[in-house]
Amino acid sequence: MAEKYDYEKLLEEAYAQLPKEIFESRRFEIPKTISFIEGKKTVVQNFKEIADILNRDVKHILKFFLRELATAGEIEGTRAVFKGQFSNYVLNDIVKRYANLYVICPECKKPDTKIVREGRFLFLVCEACGAKTPIKPL
Ligand SMILES: [Zn+2]
Repeated sequence: MAEKYDYEKLLEEAYAQLPKEIFESRRFEIPKTISFIEGKKTVVQNFKEIADILNRDVKHILKFFLRELATAGEIEGTRAVFKGQFSNYVLNDIVKRYANLYVICPECKKPDTKIVREGRFLFLVCEACGAKTPIKPL
């Protein structure tokens, strides 16, 4: 029991030494798709909302989805409709991949980035740490 106590004490001390900001900074959560299958189509109900949270152009995300799903699709209001039947799991995985490629800074893991074009090249520029990462165009 003495060992356990020491371990807890060490842990407490370690936390006390961490800078406060670590606990205060908001944690970015990659948004999740809300989808359903309608006949031979898949509807992502909150597509626009996902684009807003990721702070990216809805058309850019759609393009990525179409390529990843290898299907056709379009934006209908705030929803996206894809040809074919896709599970919510598959759709969420694409959102995650998109966020990791085009939103989250690989240096500091924050989502406060924007896509900047310089000639033929695209960069992910981080407003939090200033990192500039080359990205592949879609
Ligand atoms: Zn960064």
